[in-house]
Amino acid sequence: MDFETIMTIGILVMVFLFGICIGSFLNVCIFRLPAGESLTKQNSHCMTCGAPIKWYDLIPVFSWLILRGKCRACGAKISGRYILVESMTGILFVLTFLRFDVISDGLIYPALLCLFIAGLIVIGFEDYDTQEMTVSVLMYLTLLAFFTRVITSVLPLRFTRGCDISLEDGIIGLFAVSVPLLFFGFVLTPLIYNFIDEDRKAVRRIRKRLKTEKLPVNEEQKLQKALETHAAAVKEKGMTFGFGMGDVMLMAAGGLMLGWKSAVVAAFIAIISGAVYAAVLKARADTDKPVRAFAFGPFLTAGLILSSFFGTQLMDLYIDFLTVPAIPAM
Ligand SMILES: [Zn+2]
Repeated sequence: MDFETIMTIGILVMVFLFGICIGSFLNVCIFRLPAGESLTKQNSHCMTCGAPIKWYDLIPVFSWLILRGKCRACGAKISGRYILVESMTGILFVLTFLRFDVISDGLIYPALLCLFIAGLIVIGFEDYDTQEMTVSVLMYLTLLAFFTRVITSVLPLRFTRGCDISLEDGIIGLFAVSVPLLFFGFVLTPLIYNFIDEDRKAVRRIRKRLKTEKLPVNEEQKLQKALETHAAAVKEKGMTFGFGMGDVMLMAAGGLMLGWKSAVVAAFIAIISGAVYAAVLKARADTDKPVRAFAFGPFLTAGLILSSFFGTQLMDLYIDFLTVPAIPAM
């Protein structure tokens, strides 16, 4: 083995160990940020018996494996979520660095990508758990994407040789998916919803009758009551459904960081996998219990993470496929 191979393997091992430590911190973020708890407060203890956890039982991935997912003091099961997030972060970090020749491309760009993926992991699990995204993590992703675009435009090429996203790709990416999402989520869907929703239709029908028809008093009172019930149901459902503002911000940051091609591919991955998930939920749901709305964020973050690896290449292939080959000159 030559020196460069040994160096590369050494760097990848370091990246994995660093990744699982970051993953351990991400677990803390996922559990504490939605609850508004401090990230720095240092008192890890067992969720069941409350026994403080010793430092040697806090080693990412390895401690969980040694303890076989059980508390050392009371034997209660420790959530598999811990080792899932830790190993996932470590593996994604290594895969990200593997895309680059770390010796000649430098470590800056792959490291920035890893920091972005770390934020995506937190957003995905947060949204899955609580159906909400914390603003601080969305801000982190946006600022990191902005910083990356500035750094890769300003620094001499030899530091960021591996970066294949141009400033234009990033700026188009900022809007490519976020603006359509904003339009669908906040303009088109509420508009269509307004015409197909039974409660909204009922409100309009009753208002019209009350206005135009001469009705007996008891009939009018009955209608007034019905109007109140339907109006309350409308209010309960809210104006918007489907996408939230968090999804829009997430895709803006994702596009700025990964370029418009990856953002578009990510949106496709999310919509297709989300639709499959919804179909499965519907098929398995009880007839008396309607399907609850589910968070779309995990699908968007999974799409962004996957497309950070092959989004640009996949989109280029697709564009090539669409482009009619030029007739070769004689
Ligand atoms: Zn315990």
